[in-house]
Amino acid sequence: MQNNFNLSDKIFNQDHEQIVYCSDKDLGLKAIIGIHDTTLGPSIGGTRMWNYSTEQDGLKDVLRLSKAMSLKSSLAGLNAGGGKAVIIGDLKLKNQNFIKKYASFINDINGKYWTAQDVNISSQDMIWMKDVTPFVVGMPEDKGGLGDSSHPTAYGVYLGMKAASKFVYGNDSLEGKKIALQGIGKVGAKLIEYLAKENATIYVSDINKEILKNITDKYKVRSFKNSELYSMDLDIFSPCALGGILNSESIKKLKCKIVAGAANNQLEDDKTHDIELKEKNIIYVPDFLINAGGVISVYHEQIQDLSKEKVFAMTENIYSKVEDVLKLSSKNNISTNVSAMKIALDRINRNRKK
Ligand code: NAD
Repeated sequence: MQNNFNLSDKIFNQDHEQIVYCSDKDLGLKAIIGIHDTTLGPSIGGTRMWNYSTEQDGLKDVLRLSKAMSLKSSLAGLNAGGGKAVIIGDLKLKNQNFIKKYASFINDINGKYWTAQDVNISSQDMIWMKDVTPFVVGMPEDKGGLGDSSHPTAYGVYLGMKAASKFVYGNDSLEGKKIALQGIGKVGAKLIEYLAKENATIYVSDINKEILKNITDKYKVRSFKNSELYSMDLDIFSPCALGGILNSESIKKLKCKIVAGAANNQLEDDKTHDIELKEKNIIYVPDFLINAGGVISVYHEQIQDLSKEKVFAMTENIYSKVEDVLKLSSKNNISTNVSAMKIALDRINRNRKK
């Protein structure tokens, strides 16, 4: 461990409720389940598998991501806490036995952590997990779930863009607004559908050339390199690919009025880069606020209320929540990230005292 990172400090200073290390030497399985806060309900968050350079990198990721899930669920008004899990290792290790053994560790926690799907975990992996433990959400529709959550996620991002536009321009129409999407995967492609219907001017980038071609064939959009997007004169820049892309280097180039996208953990450093955006008068809509459509969907699966109408109705509240966060930020002269965190933590703390 490096000197500047002390796990005991992290947990005993109440940042996280519980961290569970899971290991099976024969299978080469190493996983960490992070439960950040269960004041509002059992923790929900995806499991991701990644070949981290060090185990400490995996731990840092799980601590960061599980906390973001607490904030996200709280802001979305869900009775759910925040958790996340990482499986550390090469994807080649993954097979049915491996996934089922991992699921048995989730089962041992007995419902304090519910897993959903995240990076490098397939629908088949979810089905194998569900064979072993009931604490799995985000299942395909033919297996009793609500299916792919990228549609409600995209819908929430779209509404968040509209609310931010109203704040900046006085009305929420996206017609003619110049909007650039970085990443046009499952969420990005759905988002384009909404934006195209409103006649926005859409620019896109993606590292996958095939995806890019399909989208430019289907819609009136223009494609650019990532590096070009940052410095374009835009109304809205929408990160829908990777985390950590809002950093001192990219922020220096940005010429947009609003940043509003689906990617998780967009700020490379959430204590400085939100302020750098504010200093440039760029309205940043925090990711854990605007991309909550996915967790709203899996939460409904957890409580066995399999109604897509309810998922979309609850996702609609993202619009007014974005308005609340932006107003609080402007009233108190604080960054939008701090303002969103305050609203999320206030709700957790109010419930903790009950
Ligand atoms: P996805 O994997 O379907 O799509 C990501 C896209 O980004 C792919 O097309 C990929 O080629 C592209 N990409 C990767 N690296 C890139 C780069 N450097 N530059 C440009 N494009 C790049 O993922 P998704 O489900 O669409 O999710 C997008 C983002 O939103 C992710 O960060 C995800 O964590 C987050 N998110 C998704 C959901 C959901 O419900 N799917 C919910 C909340 C947050």
